[in-house]
Amino acid sequence: MPLFGAHISIAGGVDKAPERGRRATCDVIQIFTKSNVQWAAAQLDSKTCTRFAANLQSYGISLAFAHASYLINLCSSDSNVRRRSREALAIEMSRCAQLGLPYLVMHPGSCGTGSRQQALDHIIRGIKWAVDRSATAYPGRVPTLLLETTAARASEIGGCFAELGELLNGLKGWADTGICFDTCHVFAAGYDLRTAEAYSETMEQFDRAVGCHRIFVFHLNDSAGPLGARSDRHQHIGRGKIGLEGFRAVVNDTRFATCPMIIETPKGKTEALDKSNLRRLRSLIAA
Ligand SMILES: [Zn+2]
Ligand SMILES: [Zn+2]
Repeated sequence: MPLFGAHISIAGGVDKAPERGRRATCDVIQIFTKSNVQWAAAQLDSKTCTRFAANLQSYGISLAFAHASYLINLCSSDSNVRRRSREALAIEMSRCAQLGLPYLVMHPGSCGTGSRQQALDHIIRGIKWAVDRSATAYPGRVPTLLLETTAARASEIGGCFAELGELLNGLKGWADTGICFDTCHVFAAGYDLRTAEAYSETMEQFDRAVGCHRIFVFHLNDSAGPLGARSDRHQHIGRGKIGLEGFRAVVNDTRFATCPMIIETPKGKTEALDKSNLRRLRSLIAA
């Protein structure tokens, strides 16, 4: 069975996330290691890092993914934003090293008024810069960067599989990289996932452009918007425009039998909604 999990809040400190993850019945979790909407963050202290690792173990969470801040945009048409973004990415990577997190999920970025080809170059250069810096500060502990498929909103990069393929090629030999495949984003970008046939056609396209073996983690989210709407609105599993059959196809794909699959569906005050979305996913696994 795939390893199922959810994006979990770090309210009160990162070390509080594993217990919340357990309450939501997670095998794995995803966290922000700092506020996702602020550039600045207090330094992590070593006690928090030690407690985080101990809590992962005691609450039975086998793996934690980090998700980078939404502010980072390595291919902004504003050079100040690009500089700030690569510095912020290096900080995110350092925090992963400190917390012992092996994977950092990030969005490729939005090119604004710049050209898409130039944007791909900026992203590759920004990542190389951040990896170099992080490798100097934390040798041997640089996380693998997972580029997330995007909903192709406005000038967003990564809504098209070919762009992700180009990015991974450009980083070959420079950085450990892979893909985070978000079902809501892919569907919003125009790739159908609603039936077993549509799923396998989309995965064939992905395999040709990027390679299915490059997928390290799935974000399983249903989509509130229709196919190709280029809107990033997540919905509960089976309650959106993708529907249960699409998710049945993903969770039973033998290529991803041991792949982590993380939900980022709407949340309530408790873990009840995460729990029921995860229950629904697990119930789709063929006996
Ligand atoms: Zn994301
Ligand atoms: Zn996602």
